[in-house]
This record gives sequence, C-alpha cells and structure tokens, in this order.
Amino acid sequence: MQPAFASKHPNDMAQAAPNPSIRPRELFAAWGRILTGNAPMLSIEITRECPLSCQGCYAYGDSHLGGGVTLSELNDLRGDDLVEGVLGLVRKHKPLHVSLVGGEPMVRHRELGRILPALSKMGVFALVVTSGVIAIPAEWMELPRVRVAVSVDGLPEDHDVRRKPATYERILKNIEGREINVHWVIMRPMLERAGYLEEYVRFWSARPEVDRIWVSVYTPQIGEQSREMLTREDRETLARELPALALRYPKLLFNKGIGEALLHPPKNPDDCVFAKMSANYSADFETRVEPCVFGGAPDCSQCGCSASSGLHWIRSIKVAGPVKIDHFISGSVKIGLMMNRLRARAARPGRWDPTGSAPKPKSNDLVQIQS
Ligand code: SF4
Ligand code: SF4
Repeated sequence: MQPAFASKHPNDMAQAAPNPSIRPRELFAAWGRILTGNAPMLSIEITRECPLSCQGCYAYGDSHLGGGVTLSELNDLRGDDLVEGVLGLVRKHKPLHVSLVGGEPMVRHRELGRILPALSKMGVFALVVTSGVIAIPAEWMELPRVRVAVSVDGLPEDHDVRRKPATYERILKNIEGREINVHWVIMRPMLERAGYLEEYVRFWSARPEVDRIWVSVYTPQIGEQSREMLTREDRETLARELPALALRYPKLLFNKGIGEALLHPPKNPDDCVFAKMSANYSADFETRVEPCVFGGAPDCSQCGCSASSGLHWIRSIKVAGPVKIDHFISGSVKIGLMMNRLRARAARPGRWDPTGSAPKPKSNDLVQIQS
C-alpha cells in the first residue's frame, strides 16, 4: 500500500470542500516544511493485523524487518493509545500529509473514526490505503482533507485471486455511495493480454465512486526474481500507452512526464525526492521504515512507486533556462539539514544526513510495507 502525495492526497486548502485538491499554497507549505528541516509527509502502519493473505505480500516476511523481528511480532496499539499515538507523531513531525496504512488499516476503523476528524481539524491531509475488505464509513466522505484509496490489483482474473476475500464484488459493495481513489499496481502478467490496460481503466472510470485512478508498477527488492517484475520493454509499453489512455479516461492520473520517470527512476534512496520527503513508522510507532515506504532493500532502479515517479518527474522540470525544480529541492534539503543541526531534537529522517552522522536505526528498526 503506497501513499501518493501528488495524486490521491490532493491537498486542498479550500477548507470547505471535502476531498480537495492540492494548490500552490500547499506546495509552498511543503517547501516550507523542508526548509525548516522537516519531512512534509508521514506514513504510519497503524496495525500489524490483516484479514487477507495476499500472494506476494512481503509485509510479514522475515526480511521486511531487516532480519530482526517481523511486523506481526511488533506491539501495535489500539483504542485511545492508537489515537494518541497517531496524533502524537503528527504533532512531533508536523507533516502536511499523513498516509495511514497497514496491515489492513480498516481493522482499526473505530479508531480511524476519531483520528481522521482530528487530523482534518489540524489542517493535515490524511490518506487511508485499504484493500476494501471492510466498508468505508459514509461520514468520512464529509471530512475535508480526508481521502481513501482502495488497492485494486488488476482485473478480477488477477485481483480476486491475489486479494481474496477483498474481491471485486466485495469492494464494489463496500465503496457504494462513497468517493474513493483506486490504486493500481501493475505487474507483468497484466501486460500479457492485449487490451488489459484499457479494460481496467474503462471499468474503474465508469464507476461513479471513483475520483482518480493512480498507477504504480511493481517494485522488487534488490536481487528479487519474480513473475511480477516488469521488463524494460514492459515499462516502455506503459510509458507509451498510459498517457494516451489518460487522455481518453480523465480519471486516470498519468502523463508523459510520469511515463518518462518510470523509465528513469531514481538511482538510489539518496537520489529519491519521495524518500527524502517522508518519515515512515511501523506498527509500534517507534520502528522506522527505511529507506522509503517499501522498507528493506528496494531496487530503486526498478522503482514503480507512483509518488516517487511523480516527484522524480517534477524535479526534472526546467523553471528558468537550465535551472530545474531539482535545484530548488536539493538546495532546500541542504537548508533543512542546516536548520536541523541548529536544533537539539530534530525529527528528520536519518537519510537526510549525507555524512551518515545521523543516528543509525537499531538492527530491528527496519520494516517493510508492501505496495
Ligand atoms: S498485501 Fe496488504 S492486504 Fe494483502 S496481506 Fe499484505 S497487508 Fe494484507
Ligand atoms: S524504491 Fe527507491 S526510488 Fe522507489 S520510493 Fe523507495 S527509495 Fe525512492
């Protein structure tokens, strides 16, 4: 489950409308967070529990914890402790955007029913990323700055096998009358049948509940060999076909720039804007997920994260002559780092420190979140 800053969590500053869109004011606010040495995004695994057992889920694997404890062994929180834990992290990091993931975050829907209104009142954008196995409360739709993303891994022939019991039938029932975004992770088998991409986009575009369709592609761990992994040719196919589909189906959030970014992902976490902009916690609210929301040792050269691709694309945009947005981002991170050095108790991600002098995570501090 992945957060997507640019798409789903469209950040609205128009306080009146629920589920607003990002505006220049928000972007400048995010820049301000970086300048003061803070990550503008926060991702929290709010529970270690999940009623599903998806093929390919590595959230519960041994290696997800960097070889220490597993996610299912962490002490997660419930009730008041969970509510206060989330709000405490938000008060500490002061992010603009919080992604609430799992496990399956909706198993804690009662606590979310208290957390989301509180975040909304604090002016923080919140994104709940769910498999859709549990009905989404209708009252959440009225909350400004709150968005729900449902992970739908392909057409039923793929999704209903991988995500059972969160099948198409169940998801459609659980989102009825709501407004959601669909998050689609494309894997290699989906590119083997002609017309698959359009069939998927046409189906979800036609659903009145769907506001946006976000696309990621499968991101492997370093050294992984699996049938889900895309080849270079697969990525070229997506970079060519998805922008054309987005023109015909406006709910699909994709353009040529994002396609280019998929072909040229960041070289490593230090080269990744998204990794630098997000602080990530696992279910005990102490263990940090590094170097990004994937945790473990993700293969950046095959990164398919939609948020990472979008930001990687943005950084390449020229604003004046040879000057790119990347120059502002790099400069801002350096200023933020300097600001952090001036403060005794900075809460920046350790990866911001190019000298490596930032506190190293304990061996069991490395956790992975599945995409
Ligand atoms: S992929 Fe997500 S929904 Fe599936 S088992 Fe893993 S945590 Fe649960
Ligand atoms: S896998 Fe690498 S490039 Fe992708 S989001 Fe993580 S750190 Fe960034």
